[in-house]
Amino acid sequence: MYLIFTDLDGTLLDHETYSWEPARPALERLAARRIPLILCTSKTRAEVEVYRAALGIRDPFIVENGAAVFIPRGYFPFSAPQAVARDGYEVIEFGAPYADLVVVLERAANHSGVRVRGFHEMSAEEVSERSGLRLEEARRAKQRAYDEPFVILDAGGAPRLLAEIERLGRRWTRGSRFYHLTGDNDKAGAVRCLRDLFERASGPVTTVGLGDGLNDAQFLAAVDVAILIPSPHVEALRARVPHGRLAPAPGPEGWNAALLQMIPD
Ligand SMILES: [Mg+2]
Repeated sequence: MYLIFTDLDGTLLDHETYSWEPARPALERLAARRIPLILCTSKTRAEVEVYRAALGIRDPFIVENGAAVFIPRGYFPFSAPQAVARDGYEVIEFGAPYADLVVVLERAANHSGVRVRGFHEMSAEEVSERSGLRLEEARRAKQRAYDEPFVILDAGGAPRLLAEIERLGRRWTRGSRFYHLTGDNDKAGAVRCLRDLFERASGPVTTVGLGDGLNDAQFLAAVDVAILIPSPHVEALRARVPHGRLAPAPGPEGWNAALLQMIPD
């Protein structure tokens, strides 16, 4: 049985337009074959719920760079260990509280002397301008629980700032648009957790991962079949995921072609 884990921005969704239209044939094939499609993204729960509904997906999902796994109640024939019940989901949390991360970002900026701007300081309008999201989407993107996206305002300041974040005991990663400050979590841990639950429910699975950013490197290295979606970061990604296969095109076109080739009709 296949289990597909996918990043959203720049992978299933076009980097500029956020459209998934070119991926429709592969999405339909996955649905017809009842292959679970796990969204695995830096986006928030509020954002992912909109995409799940639009895509007609009912499978579990991973938010905020692996900070939490949301499993629809009753999806597995058992309760997930360490899960808490919330709004019709079983939620497994790996992330640190958002308020703590905001404090660490400010402290790291002060200590390093590098100016940053985090989502908590940005209005929805500013997030919209920086990301190309529509205003209502930007509002959902700001509803964060465990992960602070930020931009570095001082050119050349990244190494000092990122080292300071690590010195303060937090992690950072980089998505297709923003840096992210996170707790002790990454996408790979959440992917492993879900893979184990699927295997407990239905036996061995073959995991497939698709991603385009450095924040996808760990989970792509952890899956059986890694599909690398072309992006400006793809060479760095290839170095970290040597067994990865390069999709033939960026974004949802490459996503579609790679999965149609892999999963027979
Ligand atoms: Mg991405």
